[in-house]
Amino acid sequence: MHVLRGVGAAPGVARGPAVRIDPPIRPAARSIVAEEVARERERLAQATEVAAAELEAIAASVRAQGHPDEAAIFEAQAAIARDQALAQAAEARIGEGAEGSDAIGAVLAAADSFADQLRGLGDEILAARAADVIDVGTRIATILAGGRMGVRTLDRPSIVVADDLPPSMTASLPRDRLLGLALEGSSPTAHAAILARAYAIPAVVGVRGLLDATAAFDASHGAEVALDGATGEVVVAPDEAAGRRFERRADEARRARARDVEDARLPAETQDATAVTLLANIGTPDEAAVALELEARGVGLFRTEFLFLERSSPPSEAEQVDAYRRVVEAFRPHPVTIRLLDVGGDKPIPYLPIPAEANPFLGVRALRLAATKPDVFVRQLRAAYRAATAGPVKVMAPMVADAGDATLLLDLAARARTELHAEGLASGDVALGVMLEIPSAILVADSYFGSLAFASLGTNDLLQYTLAVDRGNPALESYRDSLHPAVLRLIAEAVAAARRSGVELSVCGEMAGDPVAALALVGLGVRSLSMAASSLPGVRRAIRAVNLATLEDAAAASLDDPSAERVRARFSSLLGTSPV
Ligand code: PEP
Ligand code: MG
Repeated sequence: MHVLRGVGAAPGVARGPAVRIDPPIRPAARSIVAEEVARERERLAQATEVAAAELEAIAASVRAQGHPDEAAIFEAQAAIARDQALAQAAEARIGEGAEGSDAIGAVLAAADSFADQLRGLGDEILAARAADVIDVGTRIATILAGGRMGVRTLDRPSIVVADDLPPSMTASLPRDRLLGLALEGSSPTAHAAILARAYAIPAVVGVRGLLDATAAFDASHGAEVALDGATGEVVVAPDEAAGRRFERRADEARRARARDVEDARLPAETQDATAVTLLANIGTPDEAAVALELEARGVGLFRTEFLFLERSSPPSEAEQVDAYRRVVEAFRPHPVTIRLLDVGGDKPIPYLPIPAEANPFLGVRALRLAATKPDVFVRQLRAAYRAATAGPVKVMAPMVADAGDATLLLDLAARARTELHAEGLASGDVALGVMLEIPSAILVADSYFGSLAFASLGTNDLLQYTLAVDRGNPALESYRDSLHPAVLRLIAEAVAAARRSGVELSVCGEMAGDPVAALALVGLGVRSLSMAASSLPGVRRAIRAVNLATLEDAAAASLDDPSAERVRARFSSLLGTSPV
């Protein structure tokens, strides 16, 4: 038995026979003579076209089977294959002599070099996309060598073990036989992990020693593997005791899940009957199903970046209408809050070039992009108005600092509406609001709240901008508690301004999904909380365990507390738990 540790990438417990999947073999390159150069260039162009067409066909078939998110991966790969940059870099490498290569060597080298550049950008999400570029390069090289990239099947329910899985291979695995995924390499933001989470397949990544531990077994019988996608534990050839331990955990996980779904029917209200509306944060339309199962009363934050990242051209209006409408139809009669694009210098987008900035989080981010790229936002707003014919829609702008930004949102929305009207396209009503994530937006809220329907506190950025704590810097973990009295004072200010103007107020930062912090928010007067679906059960239980009067007293006192730690202890004690 080998007990190994990795990083939990998709929760759940799985146990079964391991099937090892090796990456597709890269065909060998050869050197060529001058007379062959023109022919190799031609072959490269043809193979690239075949690869792009293959990927588009896979995308269409996956989309037709009802998996638009998976289809988007193949569409993005087709776009990479068709991208002139990769084709030209590969072509430039074809040549005779030591520097040159045949088309196979050229395309593999060009893909490797692009992948290295992506990894070097210092962005985890883009680094994970390097796998897509390599995947496409290997596909083109395989076609040049006269082969085909195979689709992997599993002949029985199995745990797939690999170093890393190319996205195209992950997506082609039969989901009904894929019990779990254990990868020696990879990261939680890689496609393999994203797909595992989307389809609730337990997964652990970064498991050092995994391939050696499983290699010791006869390939035809394979090793048995047990894994826990929450804790990151992987056991190869579990003995009887370990096997029982995993069975128990699997049972517990099943029971906890059943309990959560059962409890989701209970109202989210305090013991003295103050109701709190619990909403879901989602990042793709596919996340709607789990949120609905856990009784989210709408979407408080639909992050729309998934439509814009990892592609070489912007999403069309029709594509956006389709994505928004899917969510609206799933949640109606409850509202869906679409957040306008929130990207900036930290997330480069090829078709939205933003000059490099020394401090991207203080730079041309989110709504600030509208100064130079208003059309991107108008198109998004047009799509939201069109999706609103299917059910209630709200739209909010990220990174609003003051009345000028609120007016900008209203102007963009008015332009979208006027255009749709002039074109005779049907549109519905959309409530307009802003995210409160820059302290200035709260301090001057009275100057613009009158023109809006709602506001939502983005406590992740509010914390970062209030305490000058970079949200991605692990060295600052001890500073990063949103229960800091300075943040609470700003929230209290936002609640008071919202009451004065009759503006609906909610919270959609991570704070809302932390049961202890959620109690502080209710105590401060917030009655609408939006969070990752997996946080809904814990927050519902916390709210049902307390009295509003107690929360209000604790919240009032916490504004004068000296530290976040003290505030956390105060609210943890109301739940009978010690602070975490
Ligand atoms: C926030 O800042 O709290 C928020 C919800 O937005 P994001 O995390 O997407 O910046
Ligand atoms: Mg934010």
